[in-house]
Amino acid sequence: MSSDALWIRGGTVVTAESETPADLWIADGTIRAVGTPEALSAAGMPPGTPPLDAAGCLVFPGFIDPHVHAHLPLPATSARSTYANTSRAALYGGTTTIMDFAGSGLEPDLPTAWSAWRTAAEGQSSCDWHWHVTVTHWNARVRRHLERLVREEGVTSLKIYLAYKPTLAISDEDLYQVLMFANAFDLTVLCHCENAALVPALQRRLLIAGKTGPEWHEPSRPPMVEAEGVTRFLTFAAATGARPYVVHVSSREALDAAERFRGRVRDLRLETMIHYLLLDSTCTARPDFEGAKWVLSPPLRTPDDQAALWAALADGRIDTLATDHCPFDYEGQKTLGRGDFSKIPNGIGGVEERIELALTHGVLAKKLTARRLVEVASANPAKIFGLYPRKGTIAPGSDADLAIWDPAGERTIANATQHLGTDYNPYEGLPLRGHFRAVLLRGTPMVRDGRFTAPEGQGIRV
Ligand SMILES: [Zn+2]
Repeated sequence: MSSDALWIRGGTVVTAESETPADLWIADGTIRAVGTPEALSAAGMPPGTPPLDAAGCLVFPGFIDPHVHAHLPLPATSARSTYANTSRAALYGGTTTIMDFAGSGLEPDLPTAWSAWRTAAEGQSSCDWHWHVTVTHWNARVRRHLERLVREEGVTSLKIYLAYKPTLAISDEDLYQVLMFANAFDLTVLCHCENAALVPALQRRLLIAGKTGPEWHEPSRPPMVEAEGVTRFLTFAAATGARPYVVHVSSREALDAAERFRGRVRDLRLETMIHYLLLDSTCTARPDFEGAKWVLSPPLRTPDDQAALWAALADGRIDTLATDHCPFDYEGQKTLGRGDFSKIPNGIGGVEERIELALTHGVLAKKLTARRLVEVASANPAKIFGLYPRKGTIAPGSDADLAIWDPAGERTIANATQHLGTDYNPYEGLPLRGHFRAVLLRGTPMVRDGRFTAPEGQGIRV
């Protein structure tokens, strides 16, 4: 990958700590110096280093999405994700590192899952990536395999599911063992918190009553089901000392349940998703089965839940803003659930839209500062999963991953002009202000003014 030197000139550099006018000298894929043109020269920037004009722009560290499914075989139908389409879409949207989950619960063991994900990503991903390891059960063999992944591959995090029997859901006994292991090896444990027994029971009750449309998906997994999962997971985390990370918090009730454990568990971390902030359950109520386009879990909630999540994201109770990117086509995939909402594949895309939506509807709407956006969507994911300060900030020695955003201009999200290639976009019609003038990965401009400008498949695992 070519990483020629560049002088990023005239922008305002935004990190989690500060927002200051500054130029950057980048060379050999890293940031060499930050400051005035004189400071860059004093640091050794050669005369004649080509400039990249960032006047009027905010210069962000490359954004990191800590929760993406870029490869996901499922029992009924696989997500429309590949590392090729996910990473391209991510880069168009200012995200330079994605974090995926190695393992779907269908592979016979962890080494098989690990190598399947390697095959899916290597030479295919255009952005950098990082893996959490999915653990569905516990025994001596799992323990041996995990120890090797931690020691030899640098794994820092595990993913468990309380929901989704029989492929993914973990038993309470095994949950305890996984958390004990995580505590011993200082790993963060990400957990999907929904009760595995209540969801299918509620689904059956609704279906028997003839409530079969996508609008019944949310009532089958109400906030109390999520709050129960959060409470159980954090109870086990408190009992074992493991560091817990609650993925995709969607409701005020789950947020309040998590808050009760602050100070009683080590380093409580909470994540929410851009869709919970901007979309609500009226989407799934759209007529003629169109609501299936927004079926995902935990489900979209109410405006009151949105307000609670925005407030917690701004004040520091929620640590990260991700997507749970897991797109499906409407025709042929979402439509599998016609007549039975429990058969609608769960998930939507968003890896391309997350940051631009957060800039327009969060930062420009004064719900979140630009610095706080960097914190929740770049610095914190890097810190929590061991990539900081290589990723997640703009400082000498950091990777030259940059998202240079020009606040000028307006457009509307339309599936035809996004880059994922699915047959619909869940954010269709939402307005956006501004655009990315350039997105750089380790010094290489990958996207400039809406055009992909680099060879594909050059990402690396970090
Ligand atoms: Zn997920």
